[in-house]
Amino acid sequence: MSRLRAFIKSLIAEFVYHRRAEIVQGCHGILILMYHEVAPSKDARFRLFPVLCTTPETFRQQMEWLQRHFEVISMDEAEKRLRDGSAKDSRAVVVTSDDGWAGFYQHAVSSGGRATVYVATCVLGGQLPWYVRWRILLKEHPYLLKPLAHELGEFEPFPNADTAISRLKLLDIARIEQLWKSIAKESNFQSERLPEGWFMSREQVRQAVEQGVTIGAHTVNHPQLTHELPDIALEEVKESKRILESLTAQPVMHFAYPNGDHNDKVVQLVKEAGYSTAVTTLPGWNLPGEDPYRLKRVDVHEAACVDHRGRFSEARFALWITGEWARVKSRLRVLG
Ligand SMILES: [Zn+2]
Repeated sequence: MSRLRAFIKSLIAEFVYHRRAEIVQGCHGILILMYHEVAPSKDARFRLFPVLCTTPETFRQQMEWLQRHFEVISMDEAEKRLRDGSAKDSRAVVVTSDDGWAGFYQHAVSSGGRATVYVATCVLGGQLPWYVRWRILLKEHPYLLKPLAHELGEFEPFPNADTAISRLKLLDIARIEQLWKSIAKESNFQSERLPEGWFMSREQVRQAVEQGVTIGAHTVNHPQLTHELPDIALEEVKESKRILESLTAQPVMHFAYPNGDHNDKVVQLVKEAGYSTAVTTLPGWNLPGEDPYRLKRVDVHEAACVDHRGRFSEARFALWITGEWARVKSRLRVLG
């Protein structure tokens, strides 16, 4: 993005935010925010996954701002208010993170601990979720974009890792792992070279519960559930619940669909497995009457919430999470 465009974005955000106090004050309902990782911008995690990361400094300021303008509540409390109707009189926010990234957990605890972490339980055994492994592999060995495309019957090599990973998301997890074996072998990629400590350990999940963090489930292997056979999808949904419950000695009642991917059948499986809520990646406010298995959630990452100098901007953050920025943008198409 050009500097000028970033500067204009900042100016517009400041102007709209300061002219319209009701953007925050007049809001009602429950906002569920979706983070992934909190890591410094120089960290390898940030460089590999800029759209999943927030820096510690921005995260701290976001939490302080949220505590001043919203009630920060747990997922249990959000569920209760949605069911009993009191959500319509609330201006509340639930802070969540997907996958079980360790940096988010550590920073969430230091800013009060009232967060929900949806853990893909493969990480507890030290295994990185498949999309993380693939990105590392394709970043280190971009020439693999060609044989991977060939294996998948594409005529042209994938132009970049993003495109390749989007294509892999259309496959079931068994096929993704089969491709991993053959493609990673082709580059002599050593799994031992994958980073450690990026995700929560068993011990950290146990500690998190003691520190007031709610643990939810996010499947075992992070598959796109609509692309799996129903038996496998059900097993992913049930097994992650079972693992986390035995680890924490607490009921695990909340679920997040990997990549937000769900349909009526998947929703039914999540109900059958015994969860009481499930979150998607469709943005918006949650109000009474909302389907508790299709809760809306707003993605948060660094670039969406900083000004043109890269510093936390409460105007950008407020407009982003309340959905106001999307409205401003649609009126000003020039922003792109
Ligand atoms: Zn995820």
